[in-house]
Amino acid sequence: MQTYTITPDAKPGQAQAVGHRHYQGKGIVHSIESCGTVDGPGLRYVLFLQGCLMRCLYCHNRDTWDLHTDVAKEMTVPEVMKQVMAYRHYLRATGGGVTVTGGEPLLQYEFVRDWFTACREHDIHTCLDTNGYALHYDEILDDMLDHTSLVMLDLKQIDPEIHKVLVGIPNTKTLKFAKHLAERKQPTRVRYVIVPGYTDDERSANLLGEFIGDMENVETVELLPYHELGAHKWELCGDEYKLKGVHPPPKETVLKIKEILEGYGKNIIY
Ligand code: SF4
Repeated sequence: MQTYTITPDAKPGQAQAVGHRHYQGKGIVHSIESCGTVDGPGLRYVLFLQGCLMRCLYCHNRDTWDLHTDVAKEMTVPEVMKQVMAYRHYLRATGGGVTVTGGEPLLQYEFVRDWFTACREHDIHTCLDTNGYALHYDEILDDMLDHTSLVMLDLKQIDPEIHKVLVGIPNTKTLKFAKHLAERKQPTRVRYVIVPGYTDDERSANLLGEFIGDMENVETVELLPYHELGAHKWELCGDEYKLKGVHPPPKETVLKIKEILEGYGKNIIY
């Protein structure tokens, strides 16, 4: 099987074939949050993985893009599980569990498969927070999804041209993944970031509603108003933050989008 890795200078959406598997039983971890409250239901143990092929203009985790960095830490599943088991009673008592995010966790899907399998053996709720950029459709992906309690899928923009401007690459892979989840009847929460000038208009909201309207596996849509909190990380990485001066959307805009998406029969979290 051909596999891919990413080099620090990879361009948006560009993975480089290396002819060998980079997964050797270890995840490349950016950071860990032991009691997260915003990445899924209840209290959550959150693992942030390195590596992302998207280049969202508003990215609040700019420092996770490269797969290999000096500060990344390699961890095995038993090492991660040792920490999870110490927290599992707290997590379970709040209806929580574990979440993998990043970066983009699908780039390390074998590690996620192994970790989620270990969690489910202990009846721990597992959540995959993803942009849907799956490179491979194979037994590993489906095995990982079989051990995923909830997918939180970022649908950034359905219009392909605006998506390219906002995210740096086309949305074809993400939309394919969304359809794959629907076919599998995989419990999914869609996340939609409302970015003024890019995703805050009624047409964009309607395109999203039309795309997910018939997807019975999409239980809820979470609306996330744009914020500038990650801007400083761009500067630390030596990059220009192109959304400087763009402010969070007004409440009326968010409520309008909520109303539109409710019209497509979805529960909205805001
Ligand atoms: S998908 Fe997430 S990590 Fe990747 S560039 Fe976009 S916001 Fe950043």
